[in-house]
Amino acid sequence: MAEDKVIIKEGIISQSLSGFYSVRSEGQTYVTKPRGNFRHQQLKPLVGDHVTFEWEEGLDPKADQALGRLIEVLPRRNQFVRPSVVNVDDALVVMSLVEPDFSYSLVDQFLASVTSHGIEPHLILTKYDLLLAQEGADQAQDRVAQIQALYEAAGYTVTVMDPASDALANLSQLLHQGLYVVMGQSGVGKSTLLNQLLPQADIETGEISHYLGRGRHTTREVNLYPLNQALIADTPALALDFEQIEKEQVTQLFPEIQELSQECRFRSCLHLEEPGCAVKQALEAGSLAASRYQSYCQLVQKIDQRKPQYHLKKRR
Ligand code: ZN
Repeated sequence: MAEDKVIIKEGIISQSLSGFYSVRSEGQTYVTKPRGNFRHQQLKPLVGDHVTFEWEEGLDPKADQALGRLIEVLPRRNQFVRPSVVNVDDALVVMSLVEPDFSYSLVDQFLASVTSHGIEPHLILTKYDLLLAQEGADQAQDRVAQIQALYEAAGYTVTVMDPASDALANLSQLLHQGLYVVMGQSGVGKSTLLNQLLPQADIETGEISHYLGRGRHTTREVNLYPLNQALIADTPALALDFEQIEKEQVTQLFPEIQELSQECRFRSCLHLEEPGCAVKQALEAGSLAASRYQSYCQLVQKIDQRKPQYHLKKRR
């Protein structure tokens, strides 16, 4: 049988283990190994990398010892360091309503940092049942409605993880095609959310350990799991920085401020003390949330006070 015609496929690395890489392509998972010259390029493929690989035409990816050859890693769009995952499209920004207390300023920082790396944020509010128990139904509902209205008005999707509602099912429905990470400060319930989203995921072993077939090959590294059209990273991600951002760009990280700024008298308006500022007018009229404006100003200030080291590096 001369059935070894090789075809080129494109996909996303979903797992990395012992020099093997699982690649998701058209709803299937392929085990691959890089071509030798990867080592010379000193390029370590990472989970989330868009890659091309060679595959023997007609070979069943689930067949024993079926193996493809990784040939190229395509350019990266963004990168998380902990965990190491690249080309993230969407972030589920998790914030608890209590324990730890909801923090407007922290949420705004997460939303803005994610946006600055070209990632679409979705706000997820957790521990609603705990808030109910602590404050009673009326007060809890009021508080959550207020937070939800504020962030929806600012242009974000908001999901309240109320165990008594269809929140989880609705959230799963919301996930569109793309690579998702779950992020937020510690103690807000990121792992709980991941376990709820990926109950079927065998977190310990994946396709590669199945391929290797001997013993347990546990990994501390991030894996991607399919859920509907999305791929979800099974390890919560840490915050991103603002190192690439200049203060003139902060407006773009707050959707409602960005929209208002179209009406500012000066195109370069930073919405601080400039005359004819539509953002300040909206703030005074109460149509822009004071907490959002405060977060905006804090971020501008933070970037302003940044050590000049970065600028020296950049000018070269
Ligand atoms: Zn302005």
